[in-house]
Parts: sequence; structure tokens; C-alpha cells
Amino acid sequence: MQTGKIGVTTENIFPIIKKFLYSDHEIFLREIISNAVDATQKLKTMASAGDFKGELGDLTIRVSVDKKKKTITVTDAGVGMTSEEVDKYLNQIAFSSANDFLEKYKDQVNSMIGHFGLGFYSAFMVSDKVEVVSKSWDESEPAVKWTCDGSPEYQIEETERSGRGTDVILYIDKESKDFLEENKIEELLKKYCKFLPVEIAFGKEKEWKDGKYVETGKDKIINNTKPAWTIKPSELKDEDYMKFYRELYPVGDEPLFYIHLNVDYPFKLTGILYFPKIKTNIEIQKNKIQLYCNQVFVTDSVEGIVPEFLTLLHGVIDSPDIPLNVSRSYLQSDANVKKISSHITKKVADRLNDIFKNNREEFEKKWDNVKLFIDYGMITEEKFYEKASKFALFKNTDDKYFTYEEYENLIKENQTDKNKTLVYLYSTNKTDQFPYIEKAKNKGYDVLHLDGQLDIHLINHLETKFKDSRFVRVDSDVIDKLILKDDPKQAKLSKTRQDDIKSIFNIRLTNKEIYNVVPETLDENDSPVVITQSEFMRRMKEMSALGGGMNFYGELPDSYNLVVNVNHPLVVKISDEAENELGSKLQENMKEIERVKEEISFIEKEHGRKKPEEISQVEKDDLEKLRKELESYETARKEMLETFGSNSKVVKQLIDLALLANNMLRGEDLSTFVKRSVELL
Ligand code: ADP
Repeated sequence: MQTGKIGVTTENIFPIIKKFLYSDHEIFLREIISNAVDATQKLKTMASAGDFKGELGDLTIRVSVDKKKKTITVTDAGVGMTSEEVDKYLNQIAFSSANDFLEKYKDQVNSMIGHFGLGFYSAFMVSDKVEVVSKSWDESEPAVKWTCDGSPEYQIEETERSGRGTDVILYIDKESKDFLEENKIEELLKKYCKFLPVEIAFGKEKEWKDGKYVETGKDKIINNTKPAWTIKPSELKDEDYMKFYRELYPVGDEPLFYIHLNVDYPFKLTGILYFPKIKTNIEIQKNKIQLYCNQVFVTDSVEGIVPEFLTLLHGVIDSPDIPLNVSRSYLQSDANVKKISSHITKKVADRLNDIFKNNREEFEKKWDNVKLFIDYGMITEEKFYEKASKFALFKNTDDKYFTYEEYENLIKENQTDKNKTLVYLYSTNKTDQFPYIEKAKNKGYDVLHLDGQLDIHLINHLETKFKDSRFVRVDSDVIDKLILKDDPKQAKLSKTRQDDIKSIFNIRLTNKEIYNVVPETLDENDSPVVITQSEFMRRMKEMSALGGGMNFYGELPDSYNLVVNVNHPLVVKISDEAENELGSKLQENMKEIERVKEEISFIEKEHGRKKPEEISQVEKDDLEKLRKELESYETARKEMLETFGSNSKVVKQLIDLALLANNMLRGEDLSTFVKRSVELL
């Protein structure tokens, strides 16, 4: 028997390993099994090169648990090790690399991913003793047994083993006894070993016999050694891709499209990505892509490796070239990772473009379900936008689809305003905004239907991309003003009477929203009163609700415009009635206003000719007095008109009708409206 001390400075590796890798103890199984897979692959390679001439035999790797002895054993029939090799690989190289690894990363263990490179010694995270029994493929070499309890002391002795291969026996420590549960092992095997390239058996298949489950003689193989991504695309059918999707995600909707990645240069990468149905809530959809390194599962948090929007996809990526044993921040700046990331982006865009070109009908059918994904990509990745803007679609309120270019051509002639700006009209809710949509259509305009989670961000983005264009919601102004074509219509009412209309319609509404009365000279056939909401304010509020960082807007109350069409016969009639009822009072009031205004402007002119210090206090006080006087006349006029307005059933009725058309007449206001309507009839 040989005993010795492994050449390291650390006295006892247990505490270090346990302390630093606390969060991810479970990877030990992956590491031990990966070594067994490597040993098996090596043997196969030697056999095909003719260096190994013996029988390969059954190469299945076996995992077993002995609850009584508290051991987990991983057995392979790979190349095995001679006692010299055990000494070299386990005592010197493996130990020192584990040690180096811990030294190097002890400050940032929490931020590492993959945890590769710790390899064999990760076994000590869960064991207080590890035994390796190995017999080399070289039949002249005796079997060897290596034992180590994690202190730098180990023993190597000769032993018996019936054939070529290696057993790694882990004596599981107290804190890790959960790993002795079959369910737990099975869970780990499913997570990390599901697609390893050598068959792995864990126990036996069971079958239903005489009223209970009994073990059969057949090994229970837990992995698929040839997952779809390792097979040539030309050998796979659509069904195979769907079947593989189910293997990855047993529950959930069918994916919409798939894309098979196959890159050899400048890095190696294979994989299959699926486009899932994404309707709402981006957050929930993330972290479904699984990252593999030569079929060994590494992680399913791929942020930093693929662009953010791609994390909405499902599927697998396998690359031996992604450096897995380093921290995430390093990863993001790694040149290979950057290349991988932009390559995948390009492939995804190309694939979508192919589907769009070859089967537009199919593409349109699935558009609503991939839209969120594509929009997200276009907003966040310039490179993706460049490609995707060729096949991204707009849907209008008639459920017709257009590419950006097609849509521009459709509306260019009709929807360019007098300042040469192309106006894209949109609706976020076809039911609520129905009257506005209808008006726009009657004008020959087209209205987009933008009700997606990201649409508000998308149109902000598109406004920076499209030349001389802007997006406005159909209800953000009266139809003639949405797309200003020519100068405003001739006014039927004088300027003063238009101003008076503002007061007449300024009656107190019980709704908490804020209304601002805006008289407009519109077509007399247009509605008398319309409620609109400024595009800018609404969008800012929506952005801040989505967490766009514009909190100031988020806190403002909703504010609406009550647009009164002063050319509408009913409004003219109301103005006439006010004139009849208040005529002389209004005229007198106006005379006073004009008189005071004249005096003010005279004095102001006088003062304009003097230096500030030449104006006496008395003069200043006089002016102040006149201004107060003007204010009180104006207030009196306003009050007169407001009282008239609130006594007019027609005014109230017109406002309520506008609110009703906008789905904003509620509660008490609604029942008052109904009663008043009956009275008026
Ligand atoms: P790595 O696998 O990264 O090389 P490890 O620490 O996991 O590092 O393993 C160290 C070495 O021990 C391996 O490179 C291999 O030569 C040897 N080894 C480990 N497990 C086995 C095994 N089951 N069969 C044959 N050799 C093995």
C-alpha cells in the first residue's frame, strides 16, 4: 500500500469546498458522471482508431445508491486508470486544479456559473470519504483502489476488479443525506444528464404485475443519447422537432416555429430554439433556454450569453466554446460570447424572414403570438431591427396585416398632413374607441390596432426610425385635427362668442378626471362635442405605468379635452340663446372690459416710455387697481355664462353624449343623463 500527501498548501480541502460552493452542492453528480462519460468516449475513440482491440461490451454507466452504507456509486466501463494514472490525475492534477480554482474564485464564487473545472473534487462537497476503484483497459495493469477523506492524505493500494472501468464511491456526509434519496438522484439525473451521449442506468424498469409494481431485468435508462440538436437538420422532420420540444417541456402550448442552429466557425455551436406563444407578461416567459456543453447541462439562466430578447425563446444551445467557469460579468465581455450572441440574433431573424417569405399566410396566422417577441427584439437590438423591420407586421382594425413598407404606401397619400408629416392613426381598443375609428374610416383613413404590451414602446421607437412620421391615437383629437390638411374652417361665431362658449360648457362635472374646454371651428356636420386626450400626455402616463422611469407623468391625473365644435348648429343655437337671455348684460360687461383694457394699455404704454425708477408708487397702484377691476369683470362674465350653461339641459346633454361615446359616463352622472333624456323627449 502506498500512502502520501497531496502536494498542496491547504491542510484540509473540505471546509473550503463546502464553504465556497455551498449553494450548488448538487453539481457533484454531474461532474462525476461527466468523467465517466469522458472515460467511455475515450475508449470508443481508441477502439475506432485501432488502439484498443478488446471487446467494448456493455458501456452503460450505472448510478446506484446504498442507503444503508450511505453511498452513491458511479460505475463506468471506460478506459479506467492504472495506479500511476490515479496518482497523476487524482492526486496531482485534479487536486491542484481544484485548489487553484478555489483560490482564484473564492471572492466571487457566488457570481460564477457553470462551476466547471472543479471536477472530481466536487465530490467532497457532499462526502466525507471518496473511494475510486479502477482497472485500466491495459490488461497487464492491476486494479487499483484510491481512498481519500479530503485531508491531503490519501491511500493507493492494489485491489481486485472484475473488468475494465472505474467505480467512484461517495460516502455521503450527514449534512448531505438528502442525496441518498432515490427521488433526489433521479431529479439530478434528469436535470443534468438528460442528454449525455452515453447511456446512464439508474435502477431497473418497473412494470405492473399482479397488482403492484415490480422491477424487471431491464435497466432504466434516464437519458436520450442522441437529442435532436445533435442530429443533422436534413435528417429531421417537423414532428421530430415537436417531439423534442415535448421532451424539454412536457407541459404547455405547442411552439410556433423552431430554428436549428448549426455553427462550426468561428466557434462551435449547435442547438434548437423554439418560438413559444407569447401573449403577455414577458417576465414569466424568461429563462427557458437550456445551455449545454457537449450535452452536459450547464444552466438555464442564459442572460449575458444571448441577447435579452432571445431569452423569451425556448430550447437548447450547446457549445463547448462558451467559457463556463468564469463570472458573468467576464462572460458578457468575452469576445466569443459576443460573437455567439450576434450570430444567434442573425440566425433567428433570417429564419423568421424565411418563414415570412415562403409562407406569408402561415406567418400572419402566427403573428399575434410572436409579435411581442419580435417587437421586443426590435426595440432592444439594433441589429435585429435592421432585419426584422422587413418582415414585422402591422395589423389594422380590420384585422389585415401589412409590412411596414406596405402600410406606408397604403396611407401615404391620404394621411400626410400639411406639414408633410405622415400620420399613423391607431386604436388601442376597438370597442371603446369605436366612434373615433368610424369617423377616421369615413374620412378614408386607415387605423392600426395596437393593443400589445409593448406597443407604446414600439411606436416611440418607430418614430425615431420612420422619417417624418408620427403615431396618434384616434381619440387624441377631433378628426380634422388629427391630420391637419388645410387651414381651419370659417367660423360662424365671433371670437368673443367663441370664448363665451368656453365658459358656457365649463360646467362642473362630478367625474374625477380633469376637463379642459376647447372651442374649435370644425365642419358643421361633425359632432358638436367630442372628448379627446392629448397623445403626448397619455403616452407619457402609459410609459410611466410600464416603468419607463417617467414618474412625474404617472402622478398627474388623467386630463381630457372637451372639444366644442362652435360651427355646429346646436352650439350656434346655444350661443344665440345665451345672447338672447343675457344680451344686454353681456354687452354692458364687454363695454366695461374694453374700457378697462384700453386704460390699462394706455398706462402701460406711458410706463414703457419711462425708466422703472421714474414710475411713482401711486401710478403703480393705479395700474394694479385697474388689473383687479378687469379681472372682476371677466370673472363676472364667466360666472354669468357658467350659470347659463349649467341651467341649460342641452349643454349638459351634449357633454354627456360625448362622455357616453367615450365610455366615460358612469354612476350618478349616467342616471341623471337618462332621466334628463326622458324629460327632453
Ligand atoms: P477534468 O475532468 O476536468 O479533467 P477532473 O478533476 O474531473 O478533471 O478529473 C481529473 C482526471 O481524472 C480526468 O481528467 C481523468 O483523467 C481522470 N478521471 C476521473 N474520473 C475518471 C473515470 N471515471 N475514468 C477514468 N479516468 C477518470
